[in-house]
Amino acid sequence: MIPSSMSRSLPRLHFESAEDEHQFDRDSQAPRLRHFMLSGWVSLLTYNGFLVVDWLVNPDVFAMGAALRLAIFTSFGLATLLLATVFRKVFLALPSAVTETSVMATGLLAALSIAVVLTSPAMGHGPWSVFYHGGFVPVIMYGTVVQRLRFNMAAGFTASILVIHWVCMALAYRDATAPVVPMLLFVSSMAVYTLIINYRLEYEERQRFLRQQRARMLRQQLDRSRIELEKAAGSDPLTGAANRRAFDEAMQTSWAQATAHQSALSVLLVDVDHFKAYNDFYGHPAGDQCLRHVAQALQGLINAEGGLVARWGGEEFAVVLPAHTLPRALDVANRARLAVQAANLRHERSSTCASVTVSIGVASTIPAQGEAWADLLAQADAALYEAKRAGRNRASAAGPRQPVTPA
Ligand code: GH3
Ligand code: MG
Ligand code: MG
Repeated sequence: MIPSSMSRSLPRLHFESAEDEHQFDRDSQAPRLRHFMLSGWVSLLTYNGFLVVDWLVNPDVFAMGAALRLAIFTSFGLATLLLATVFRKVFLALPSAVTETSVMATGLLAALSIAVVLTSPAMGHGPWSVFYHGGFVPVIMYGTVVQRLRFNMAAGFTASILVIHWVCMALAYRDATAPVVPMLLFVSSMAVYTLIINYRLEYEERQRFLRQQRARMLRQQLDRSRIELEKAAGSDPLTGAANRRAFDEAMQTSWAQATAHQSALSVLLVDVDHFKAYNDFYGHPAGDQCLRHVAQALQGLINAEGGLVARWGGEEFAVVLPAHTLPRALDVANRARLAVQAANLRHERSSTCASVTVSIGVASTIPAQGEAWADLLAQADAALYEAKRAGRNRASAAGPRQPVTPA
């Protein structure tokens, strides 16, 4: 499924699907916490750096500023940062609103401590007090641009600080003295501008997320198609068994392993008995259906043995059985033969049995260096010929011992 998009005409900062919203939140949680910590430390230093301004204003303001900045704000900020460091995993497991709220709380506390200084009698109503309002700007920027609160929170945060700023102004200046209006405009316009930046940053972050989601899904689709294609390329379209190419690959791997570990490896060649007669009597489509049933019966058994069934061509199947000695392979061949017979596919034109049967040639070896697996198949072919000659519906083993299992 392609992820939902954000409306273009009205670019709201919200995905159409709740699943995307959730994923976006989850994905951004860890980097946001990292960013919160790093810029938290920087902001703590910057905020205390304003003690220089307090000192410049007058000694009384400095004393109060130092108490507020160092004793109250810094201890709260430090506690928040240390908690987030020690309980990082807990923070990450909590909803992102917890981190956002911590950011908001630190910012609002900073704004309130400025307000306390501004409204204290020590500040007076001189030009210094007006310029002191400029201190709200870095606090607004801290929430909107530095910490990048999500837009809704950033808007609430900014509005709260503006209200604090305006109230402080109103309390100190009953009439619009010269520096008041420019400062009001400065702080308010900075608030609006940083909110615009905040909005834009979140919008772009969400667009990036959508692009990544799309890329992730396309990659998954591509992987699925590739697997299907590989499967299709390795299987016989009529029966769904492996094709010659897949058989060759399996044989090559099994042969190399058996050579390296000096373990046994067996092959079976399976041929449907009197299949021409079946085709002639029941028709070609029924013949196809019969081949599918035979393949199914063989696969059920051979897959459980850790082997592979491939369509060798026409009504013949080849089976590779790694780690099977001749007696074990012969046993599997007999069970496979019985499984086909048990499928009970009616064959009125067979002189062997009333239902479809198969003959199987079995060959086994512990491959020596330089030996070719084509020889093993040739032996299985010879054994198959023997099984046909001996009356069909039976398994014959190749080699010096040629135990022919009676039907
Ligand atoms: P035997 O018992 O000795 O194996 O005799 P047979 O009739 O099974 O063997 P023969 O080689 O004479 O005939 C094989 C038949 O298989 C001939 C051909 O029409 C049929 N055949 C080969 N491929 C397909 C196929 O894909 N679909 C169908 N329906 N028939 C096929
Ligand atoms: Mg044949
Ligand atoms: Mg045949």
